[in-house]
Amino acid sequence: MIPIHPSNIKMAEQYCQYAIKLLHDRTPYDREVFQTGVAAHYILEVLGKKANQLERQLLPDEINQTISDTCQELITKSREYDGVPEPPIPLLNIHEAKQITTAWAHRNPLPHDAFYEMPFALNKDWKQVEYNSTDAIFQTIIDMVHYFVDDNGVRTVIVRDYKSSWYITGQLDNLQRKAQAMVAWMKFNPEKIITEVTSIRTGQVLSREIWVQGNSQQLNEWADFIKMSAIALSNPDKLRAQPGPNCFQCPYAHSCKYVTGHANQAKHVVHKYVAALAVAKGLEKDVKSITKESPVQQGNTTVGYVAKESKSLANGATIDFLNVALEAGWDIYHFLDFINITRTQAEKIYRELPKDAREKLNHLFTTNTNTRFGVHK
Ligand code: SF4
Repeated sequence: MIPIHPSNIKMAEQYCQYAIKLLHDRTPYDREVFQTGVAAHYILEVLGKKANQLERQLLPDEINQTISDTCQELITKSREYDGVPEPPIPLLNIHEAKQITTAWAHRNPLPHDAFYEMPFALNKDWKQVEYNSTDAIFQTIIDMVHYFVDDNGVRTVIVRDYKSSWYITGQLDNLQRKAQAMVAWMKFNPEKIITEVTSIRTGQVLSREIWVQGNSQQLNEWADFIKMSAIALSNPDKLRAQPGPNCFQCPYAHSCKYVTGHANQAKHVVHKYVAALAVAKGLEKDVKSITKESPVQQGNTTVGYVAKESKSLANGATIDFLNVALEAGWDIYHFLDFINITRTQAEKIYRELPKDAREKLNHLFTTNTNTRFGVHK
């Protein structure tokens, strides 16, 4: 049995079950890890645990000192996630994480009685077990969980997920949030659950209140779905490959034997095409890196980067052209016959204009629908 995380369920839905088998077998895959986010999460965990240890909120100097010490630790110590060693975080990312967490932590004091990076695991009978238990079929770690009784006597739990992106959207209804609400519900038996997604970069917060009374059916449905998925996915011997258009953008497309077979043998030509494209896309990053310095050549075919001329105009050329045209006796409207402003430029001008002037231009912003060929995901 392998413990399943909410992200694994999402991966199985997006690609196929066999991707979870490849993940479990530790098949290398191209994973974009945003290292600033990794460092920022760790800094916030240390800050929260420090507040817990002192049994009070941290003072401004303590926040600065703790962040400084943690960054030093990140530079010098190796880390791991679920027993798997993580690559060192580049210094620039640590520096950026230091800046954003410092600004955020001073504005958002962390409670001294919350759980930070709270591990949670369930067995096949849906009973809570130790996070690293061999019986665990579901595992998750939540950035912050704060259980308290509010001023109105309501037993409340806040489940917080930190994001380091500039703008967060559409995060309140995804599987991760449902899993976090389920965990908070099972562990604390609260009356109210608040799921929260916070951008530590901008301070933007998305939150949703779930009153358990009145939503228990919904919570049970989420729990049933997660349990069913975890049971199905936690047995690696039963994970079946389902090659097809879903292979597109699968992180294992460059090494999965089923997608290459599908690219050669699928009866449906569209399936064949998408499978071949998935493999090609999966290999593209490596091919670009290999051919960066020296392109690969066969006959008159070159794979890699080749120099191509591209023509452009110097910055500020419009003004020079206008001045020269006016000097040559052109009327400005004649000049404008040759110039077309883009939609983006028009929007910028529009935003700068007074409201009554903008109203005269509203009808010029039109939206058309075009069809585009490709694989859309
Ligand atoms: S490449 Fe296709 S068949 Fe292979 S794991 Fe990914 S989705 Fe499944």
